[in-house]
Amino acid sequence: MRRGSVYELGWIVALALAAVVLIAMGLGWAEAVLLMLCLLLARHAWHLVRLARLIRSQHRLVPPFPKGIWGDIYRAIGQYQQRGRKGRKRQVRFFRRFREAANSVPDALVVLDKNRRIEWANPAAQVLMDLAWPRDEGKALFEVFEHPELADYISAGEYARPLELAPAHNRSIMLSIRVAPFGERKKQRLVVGRDITKIFHLNLIRRDFVANASHELRTPLTVITGFLETLADSAQTPSNHRRPLTLMQHQAERMRSIIEDLLTLSRLEMDEHASDIAPVDVPNELEQIVADAIALSGGQHRFSLDIDSDLLLLGKDSELRSAFSNLLFNAVKHTPPDSHIQLVWAHTPSGPIFLVEDDGPGIEREHIPRLTERFYRVDEARSRASGGTGLGLAIVKHVLSRHDARLAVASEPGQGSTFTCHFPLGSALSAAQIEHHAQAWAPSALGSAG
Ligand code: ADP
Repeated sequence: MRRGSVYELGWIVALALAAVVLIAMGLGWAEAVLLMLCLLLARHAWHLVRLARLIRSQHRLVPPFPKGIWGDIYRAIGQYQQRGRKGRKRQVRFFRRFREAANSVPDALVVLDKNRRIEWANPAAQVLMDLAWPRDEGKALFEVFEHPELADYISAGEYARPLELAPAHNRSIMLSIRVAPFGERKKQRLVVGRDITKIFHLNLIRRDFVANASHELRTPLTVITGFLETLADSAQTPSNHRRPLTLMQHQAERMRSIIEDLLTLSRLEMDEHASDIAPVDVPNELEQIVADAIALSGGQHRFSLDIDSDLLLLGKDSELRSAFSNLLFNAVKHTPPDSHIQLVWAHTPSGPIFLVEDDGPGIEREHIPRLTERFYRVDEARSRASGGTGLGLAIVKHVLSRHDARLAVASEPGQGSTFTCHFPLGSALSAAQIEHHAQAWAPSALGSAG
């Protein structure tokens, strides 16, 4: 039995004895018991009121505690208070450490409330986004950090890809903005701004270098090709020179293809999104692409087509033509004669798809994620022999990204390959819609797509 309970039992026994004494002294037994009970109740009521007052005034309950059951209650509440205090101290320490850590992050961190008002920001936000906490607390983000693209980006709610921008207060830096929704119903947002100036400039240097080098190589190559052609056509060329000449012509042609693809990639890298977009008559484009693929195959492949002739796409015709032909020509180049190639252009509930499926040799799983890297080939020798530049799928990836589309590759060795371009729902157009909106697009737009 606990000490408090023993003490309490002692009290009750003492009161019972006092009641017996009172009865013996001549008081009625009912009155004597009532009197003792009242005394007992009064004692409990006094402790109850005292405890309620102490708790209300947030008084720390520390020893010495009263004896008996009330002492136990005081002690238990005191221990509970102590645990709470320790927990709060731990929380404060953790919060302080967390804030120190957040303050030492070199990236700008800004916490927005559900109305996109600034709740907190770290010191890096001042340098990178010209936004200081607590000075700007409660202000709308766009009021302090003005940027038209940022407002659209945050409102769109699609944060899979970061937004790259040069802040208005310091055009010499480049920021990559990421947004992470959190909190109740993901209404709050953490905005992270990373300084990518160095990597951005390195990328620019690389892009310009590739573009300039390719451009510079073009002219000498044209001269070499011209002379090779003249020599090949000349009757005075010794017959033992004919084979090396043909080989040289072949290699010069390969070099020209690589240079053209590199220049195409450089052009695609200039802007994140395709400009001058207009309705593209994809079925019409595919007619020409399929004719070219049949010519490339030399009649050695079997083709089947499933083309929605009413489905058009909002995009850039030259880029789409390049992406679609790369995928179809790959199916021809990388599959043996008599392979079956299926081409699909169709509308699906998630948007238009362009699909090329073949029953060729397929691709081992480990190569698939790397196929869109520049110059990545599964089989170097075979790709070169088939006239590939190793840049085709890199071009496809860039074109699709500029159209907010994505490439999916499914392949198993010995089971063939399927390359699917998934376009966003909003990019699909029907011929009827084109007629309806004829005014909105330049009359030349449709013509150039055809
Ligand atoms: P390439 O100019 O070599 O075709 P790509 O970038 O277009 O370069 O393709 C990269 C590699 O992907 C190719 O070298 C080839 O190994 C593989 N590949 C592409 N398409 C197919 C396909 N339909 N079947 C098998 N392998 C393919």
